[in-house]
Amino acid sequence: MRAEDLDLRELLDFEPGGGTIRFAGERALILDVVAFGLLRRELVESLGPTAARVVLTRFGYAHGWRTAEALRSAFPWDDEREWHRAGGRLHQLQGMLVYEPVGAVEGPRPFAQALWKESVEAEAHLAHLGLSSEPVCWMSCGFASGYLGYCHGRAICCVEERCRGRGDAVCVMAGRPREEWGDDPRLVYFEPDALDRSLRQVTAALRRADRKLAARRPRSGQADDGGLVAESAAMRHALDLARRVALVDSTVLLAGESGSGKEALARFVHAGSARALRPFVAVNCAAVPETLLESELFGHARGAFTGATQDRAGLFEAASGGTLLLDEIGDLPTAMQAKLLRVLQEREVRRVGENRVRAVDVRVLAATHRDLAAEVAAGRFRQDLYYRLRVIEIRVPPLRERREDVLPLARRHVALVAARTGCPVTGLTPAAADQLQRWGWPGNVRELQNVIERAVVLARGRRVDVEDLPEEVRIAQPGRGSPGAPRTLADVERAHVLAVLRGVGGNRERAAAELGIGSATLYRKLKEYGVTRPRR
Ligand code: ZN
Repeated sequence: MRAEDLDLRELLDFEPGGGTIRFAGERALILDVVAFGLLRRELVESLGPTAARVVLTRFGYAHGWRTAEALRSAFPWDDEREWHRAGGRLHQLQGMLVYEPVGAVEGPRPFAQALWKESVEAEAHLAHLGLSSEPVCWMSCGFASGYLGYCHGRAICCVEERCRGRGDAVCVMAGRPREEWGDDPRLVYFEPDALDRSLRQVTAALRRADRKLAARRPRSGQADDGGLVAESAAMRHALDLARRVALVDSTVLLAGESGSGKEALARFVHAGSARALRPFVAVNCAAVPETLLESELFGHARGAFTGATQDRAGLFEAASGGTLLLDEIGDLPTAMQAKLLRVLQEREVRRVGENRVRAVDVRVLAATHRDLAAEVAAGRFRQDLYYRLRVIEIRVPPLRERREDVLPLARRHVALVAARTGCPVTGLTPAAADQLQRWGWPGNVRELQNVIERAVVLARGRRVDVEDLPEEVRIAQPGRGSPGAPRTLADVERAHVLAVLRGVGGNRERAAAELGIGSATLYRKLKEYGVTRPRR
C-alpha cells in the first residue's frame, strides 16, 4: 500500500442513517467550515491572536499525532516511508487542503516541505478575520508537526514560509527537527505551557502585531522585489499589476522596448506565484533558428531528424509545474504560431517524431518589444494567438519614462559589478549621477547596466566620474533623449538606427541594408550606443 493509494471512498465508513462515522477506522466528525471560522474568530477576539494560535496549533498537533498512530497499523504499507508520506495525503482527504510534496528545491533542504493549496483555514481566516500579517494555517502546521513527530519519534516543528491567508499565492510549509530551528520565535506555538504564557503576553503581542501591520502598509519608494527598482509611478504601476497577476494562473503578455526588463518582471511574476518552487524557464524565440524551434519547445524522439541521437524533452516539459517565458514572441514564425496556439489550448505537447501527446502543466508568459496588434493588422501574427496570449497585458515602461529609477538602478549596479569584479568602486560622483539623468537611455535598463559595468571597470577613482562614462552620456544635455525635446543630429541618427533595427526584428544584416550602410559601420554604431546582442 502506498500513500497515494488512499482513497476517500474506501476510508470513509458510515451508516446511511448517520450517528457514527468512521474515517480510516477512527470515529470522525463532520464540521461546518463557517462554524469553524466563527469559532476561530471568537478565539482570536476573546483570547488574542497568540493564544488562539496556540490553541489551534495544539489541537492540530493532537490530531496529527493521533492520525499517525492510527495509520501505522491500519494499512499494510509497502515500507515505512509510505506511512510517513500518508500524513499529507490524509490531511488532503480530510478536506483541510490540497497537498503537494515539494521535491528538489534550491538551498538547504528542510526536513519536510510541501505546497498547501486551497487551505480551508486560510479561507476561513480570510472570510471571518480578513487578511493577516502572519501565516494562518495553524491547525495544519500543528497536524504536520504532530504526524511527523509521531513517525520519527522526535520533535518536528512545521511552520509556514508563505500563506494564502497573508496574501501569498499559495501556502508553503517547511518542517525541521526542533533543535534545527534554534530560537525561532514561531516555536512558541508548540510549547506545552505556551497557552499560559501567551495569555500573559497577549498585550505585548498585540502591540507587536500592530507594528508589523504598519510595516506592511504599501511600501513606497524601493518596492524592490527580485532586483526590480520602482521609485517611479510608471514602474510601480507595472509591479503592482505583476503582483496581482502572480496570484492567478492566466497567460500574461509583457510588452516593452528591448532592454526594459521584461524578463526580470516575468521572474517576479513567477516568484510570487503558486509555482514559485517549480522551474522558471525562459527562451528567446528570435534567437533559436526556425528549424530547431519546434524541437526546442516541444522536444523530439530519437531519430526524428539527423542529429537526434536520443529522446529529448522540450522546454514545455522542462518547465513542468512552473513557468515558461516565451521572449520575443512577436518573432515566432507563422508555422510555429499555429503549433503554439494548439499547445496553449490543449495543454499538451507532441514531441517531434512522436505520435503520442503528453500533458503539460505550465504557465506561459510571453514578452515582445513589438506592437503585436500592429503585427496582427499586418498579417504577420495570428489574431487568435494574440488574444490567447494577452489575457492580461503588462506594459513595462522604457527607462526614459521612469527617470526616478535611473539613479537607484545605477547605484545598485555599481555595487553589483564592484562585488563581482573586485573593483574598489563604491559609488557615483555627483557630476556622474547628474549626467546619467540627462541621457535618454534608448537601450533602457540593459544599456544603463552596460554603461555602469564599463564605467566601474574603467574608473580611475573610488567613485564613477563623468570621464568614465561613454561619450554620448558624457556630453548629453538636459532634456535630450526625451521625446519632443530638441535633438542633435547624432540623437536623431541614433533613434532612427535603433528604430530600423527593431523594425527588422534585430536582424543586423537587414538593418544595415535598409539604412544603406555597411554592416561593419552598423556594428560600430551599435557598440557606441551601448546596445549589445540580447542574451541567449
Ligand atoms: Zn496557509
